[in-house]
Amino acid sequence: MRKHIVAGNWKMNNDLAQSVALISDLKRQNQTSNAEVMIAPTFTNLWHTTENLKSSPIEVIAQNMHFAENGAYTGEVSAEMLKSIGVNTVILGHSERRAYFNETDEMLAKKVDAALEHNMRVIFCFGEELADRQASTHESVVANQIKNALFHLKATDFQSIVLAYEPVWAIGTGETASPEQAQEMHQFIRKTLSDAYGDTVANAMSILYGGSVKPANAKEIFSKPDVDGGLIGGAALNAEDFYAIVNAF
Ligand code: PEP
Repeated sequence: MRKHIVAGNWKMNNDLAQSVALISDLKRQNQTSNAEVMIAPTFTNLWHTTENLKSSPIEVIAQNMHFAENGAYTGEVSAEMLKSIGVNTVILGHSERRAYFNETDEMLAKKVDAALEHNMRVIFCFGEELADRQASTHESVVANQIKNALFHLKATDFQSIVLAYEPVWAIGTGETASPEQAQEMHQFIRKTLSDAYGDTVANAMSILYGGSVKPANAKEIFSKPDVDGGLIGGAALNAEDFYAIVNAF
């Protein structure tokens, strides 16, 4: 049985005081679903958050990391540094990293390798732009993003990968892919994986949907058979909204 996962990406939001307040709100929430819950604070908030949530089921994860072990990479953070504060999962390939920080498939392949070498789990993000969908090239765009960054891996490596389909046109826009569009793409992604690595790998893969998931639409999106969870941006900044999504399973 593949896992249900709901991960909150705080992006560049929350200073120390806001982060502490949101964490105590999160701790007050009741979880009624079986989903694994994760939050991705900024680097400055990672340490106190891992300490604060040590005895909680919420996993604290990173929004990004560099592929190098250490060295002259001003402003960057390595896998080893994340591991040293108890962070074992990292989001890679978010569309904002690709768009504003020029992250390429090649660079992402290196980051994925670095994470796996350090026994980290990766939430690997990808998704088409609006123009791709309008040109009906969305499936080939998504297939290439996955192949270019992940298809050098061994089948067993996929045990440490979670996929997150995030159509760029739906991120932070209030525009959501319809549950049918999400299901269609998730099914295509699973087939792409199955063609390359077989059904066992494909059927065990958790594929999350991201893009304006809110309490009001989560249940319908999560009801689709190939949607195994969500990567949540805006709605993850409010504890009640976030847990309404977590409990939508
Ligand atoms: C995201 O940033 O991964 C995301 C899905 O954001 P939002 O939920 O705000 O669209």
